[in-house]
Amino acid sequence: MRASPGARDNVRMRLLVVEDEPKMAELLSRALREESYAVDVAGRGEDALWMAGATPYDAIVLDVTLPGIDGLETCRRLRASGCWIPVLILTARDAVADRVAGLDTGADDYLTKPFSLSELLARLRALTRRVPQERPVDLRAGDLWLDPAAHRAWRGESELDLSAREFALLELFLRRPGQTLTRGQLLDGAWDMAYEARSNIVDVYVGYLRQKVDRPFGRASLETVRNVGYRLRSDGG
Ligand code: CA
Repeated sequence: MRASPGARDNVRMRLLVVEDEPKMAELLSRALREESYAVDVAGRGEDALWMAGATPYDAIVLDVTLPGIDGLETCRRLRASGCWIPVLILTARDAVADRVAGLDTGADDYLTKPFSLSELLARLRALTRRVPQERPVDLRAGDLWLDPAAHRAWRGESELDLSAREFALLELFLRRPGQTLTRGQLLDGAWDMAYEARSNIVDVYVGYLRQKVDRPFGRASLETVRNVGYRLRSDGG
């Protein structure tokens, strides 16, 4: 879904604004276009879902109150469909329950109406922040290596077929070879907030990763550090 960062460096960032009130939608899209974002507008959550499936937006600004499915349900369905475009929720109600609900759906951030334009822009910059323009260097431990820009990884000559989550985990390990990473660090680095409650998910995914980067090659690079977490051997196993 996501194009390689290198291919997009010169492309304007594209946002999807989901807001049913015409005045607010117009205000938002005009302000964002002035900041040189490309902006599409959807008035319904149902429309936002297919639009997000068809276009690799850099971020989605999603109002909670919509006709049909609301913003929270829209976000939930986006995530359920495997769409991980950053989502900024707009909520009119300054209620804690709403905020929690927003983040529980897999939203990345929220803003309470009324908000200032400068605050919205700052949040969007944070959500769409890219790695620096220069191509990141390959990460390597022995013959296990990963190209963050191309989003590809190899064991020796064999390219590894990793899910997005497995890739994120391997990248975390390869950024700190030889160091023990706690489950909390791995969760923070590779998962969204919504997953925090599932405490064994790190163990499950380290297991998946071993099946792909170690077992087929008769290696053992990912070591369990009892009661703490995991460590990637700096020699690649
Ligand atoms: Ca609305």
